[in-house]
Amino acid sequence: MTLALSGQIVEPGIAIGQAHNIQRNEIEIGEYRIADEQVDAEIDRLIHAAAEAGVHLEDLARRLKKSAGASGEEIIRTHLAMLEDSSLVQASARHIREQLCNAEWALQLQLETLVAEFRTIDDDYIRSREEDIVQVVRMVQQVLAAEQPGKPLSDVPDRLGHTLVVATELTPNELAVLHDRGVAGVVTEHGSPYSHTAILARSMGVPLVMGVRRAQSLITEGEQLVLDGAYGIVFADPEESILRHYLQKQSESDRYRKSLERGRGRPAASLDGEALVLLANAERPEDIRRALEDGAEGVGLFRSEYLFMQGLPPDEEAQVEHYVSAIEALEGAPLTIRTLDIGADKKAHALEFEGLRNNPNPALGLRAVRLCLREMDLFKVQLRAILRASAHGPVHCMIPMLTTDREVLAVRSLIEETRLELDSEGYDHGAERMRLGGMIEVPAAALALERMARHLDFLSVGTNDLIQYTLAADRVDENVAHLYDPQHPGVIHLLEHVFATARRLQVPVSVCGEMAGDRRFTRLLLALGLREFSMQPRSLLEVKKVITETDVGAVREALARWTAGECDSSTMTLSQFLDNAQLHH
Ligand code: PEP
Ligand code: MG
Repeated sequence: MTLALSGQIVEPGIAIGQAHNIQRNEIEIGEYRIADEQVDAEIDRLIHAAAEAGVHLEDLARRLKKSAGASGEEIIRTHLAMLEDSSLVQASARHIREQLCNAEWALQLQLETLVAEFRTIDDDYIRSREEDIVQVVRMVQQVLAAEQPGKPLSDVPDRLGHTLVVATELTPNELAVLHDRGVAGVVTEHGSPYSHTAILARSMGVPLVMGVRRAQSLITEGEQLVLDGAYGIVFADPEESILRHYLQKQSESDRYRKSLERGRGRPAASLDGEALVLLANAERPEDIRRALEDGAEGVGLFRSEYLFMQGLPPDEEAQVEHYVSAIEALEGAPLTIRTLDIGADKKAHALEFEGLRNNPNPALGLRAVRLCLREMDLFKVQLRAILRASAHGPVHCMIPMLTTDREVLAVRSLIEETRLELDSEGYDHGAERMRLGGMIEVPAAALALERMARHLDFLSVGTNDLIQYTLAADRVDENVAHLYDPQHPGVIHLLEHVFATARRLQVPVSVCGEMAGDRRFTRLLLALGLREFSMQPRSLLEVKKVITETDVGAVREALARWTAGECDSSTMTLSQFLDNAQLHH
């Protein structure tokens, strides 16, 4: 009989295969006393074990760079940084000296201290870093226990092509081992979608459902499983009809992926000849090459806060270097650098400003340009770096979360002031060429667009925020996720207004929120008048395919019929109606 289990959505994708429950080779962390004269040797043991774990992590980082791209490598680099941080090995060495205990136990004591510190902070991101530190300590303890680090899955078969692994939880390390062995999918009892294991699964494309309570006891070894990552569901021992349904879905999705590859190199033009511009969203220079291969004409959103979320705030030189490597990767195509968008769910822990912490309503508080215009020193460094980088290639500067035109004017005059400073200091810059754009994410800015747009060279709609603010539904609160609807008539109305106003004022407009990269909304955005889409690189080929199969005139007409109430909106959504209209055109 089918058993349906649900968990957290991490990586969409379907996996079908046999369950293999893996038991972790938990190591015993024993405590024993050592004599004074053994202290130095015990500290040596600890240092050697940490070094060996480091060698293993370096090796893994190299392998992951090939198989999972830069983000896979970066996750392991974070672990390496934790391993090298004085708060781990040196502090554990102090425990050995002061408490005369063995290295394994000293690490355990230090782990407890670090975890207790993490727990005092009410923050999902920090909590997921807690998982990382536990994993790093376990690895050193494994070496001390004379186990091979990173090979804790000794009971897992070498070839896992038709196997879905079921585990209590997995480290990124372990997931990488499973990926190497071709695992079809993974189910875990614990773990958060923010964790590095989840991030890695997404970049490697391993279907994964996390947080399936008691999965190991409910799923029998060897039984058939179907995992639907898009819905976070796992079916154990599925009945024939479910299995058939998913086998079909899986082969459709394989065929679909292959057909997308054929679109590489083709122009993004609609059936009725409208030429569209596709741009990529990027957080790191490393994401750019692939985006260009898949047809991006530039970067429409470079999220600069990524650099600030890594640790200490980057200084001017580090920022220049970061932006210049993105410019170089773009080989002449434009880079749109969004100025710092910190606040609400985006935390940069090294930025400790009054008003960022203990804010009663962070999404409505000091965020993005509001923070930048208050913390001028921070902002000026970024503007200097952006202007200096703009000497190396085409750069646009984009301001997030604008509410009033006064903010635009303030940023403009700061840019001018910065330009004069750079001139007097003899720095090169490309200020004359640099266009200044604004993000439309606050409903009031969308409604009063005309005032704002007069001072801007281009606009980009951040639908992720525009939707949350229009519907008063926090984008990260699962309790109100059912209200977060990109097709709500209020949202559609605002989008239509923004595109029409921008067209009338002849100010270029794009969308860089998730809606632009979601194929379900491509026809809707085309019908609403959008011609420039900026999206995560993974979606470029898919969105391009929909564009090439759309007659923009036909979907516009269909939208007009829908707006006039000529269709039954109780049986389908607007985007489904437009897909249907195209099908029957
Ligand atoms: C948006 O809000 O749509 C957007 C692109 O910005 P972010 O998701 O980074 O807030
Ligand atoms: Mg936003």
